[in-house]
Amino acid sequence: MRLILFGAPGVGKGTQAKLIASNLNIPHISTGDILRQAVKDKTDLGKKAQEIMNRGDLVPDDIMIGIIQQRLHKPDCSKGFILDGFPRTVKQATALDKLLSEMNIKDVNVINITADDNELVKRIGNRRACKNCGQIFVLKDIEGKSHCPNCNAEKSFYLRDDDKEEVVRNRLNVFRKNTEPVLDYYNKQNSVISIDGLGSINEVNKRVSEKLKLKN
Ligand code: AMP
Repeated sequence: MRLILFGAPGVGKGTQAKLIASNLNIPHISTGDILRQAVKDKTDLGKKAQEIMNRGDLVPDDIMIGIIQQRLHKPDCSKGFILDGFPRTVKQATALDKLLSEMNIKDVNVINITADDNELVKRIGNRRACKNCGQIFVLKDIEGKSHCPNCNAEKSFYLRDDDKEEVVRNRLNVFRKNTEPVLDYYNKQNSVISIDGLGSINEVNKRVSEKLKLKN
């Protein structure tokens, strides 16, 4: 199965993408994770992306399209994939369409997870990432813990620079201006499945699984 997971920052795309990927045994391709890894490794890409990400702005389309082109050609994508954080502009969406048609791939589902802005700002303020493995946690789940439950790194929890409130506001503005038009683009193709993102991780995951079952 090929999926594009769409939604505003903080809506839970990454968490849901990981669950769906492990349930369906397909790779989870998060462009945010790819960029954060590049920043950590201090590669040329990382050096270019860091400041842009810290401001909450978008990395240029050509760079992102190149990353996805390379990634989708890897053998593990042959059975399917889930895209998280791409496409984020209409230019990326049209480039993806072109790439998929060159690869002879037709069946792509777009899942749009929804929540209102106040909920998003609240959720992002209440999350922490692990510096070592990048896993995101809800603050109350790691309170009093000194080691990451995922990779066991010690004292590794931090508030991502781009999760600070003023940056979150910019990310939401960028989402409305540049990324929401991507949804209209896919709505015109009738390929969008909408999911209410309110509720627990398991509740949202159940909604996603039910909708995907109905599709197949
Ligand atoms: P995310 O973890 O998906 O919220 O991504 C974190 C940051 O990486 C974003 O705020 C952007 O600066 C950058 N980024 C990730 N994916 C893209 C993309 N498809 N296009 C442009 N910038 C991106």
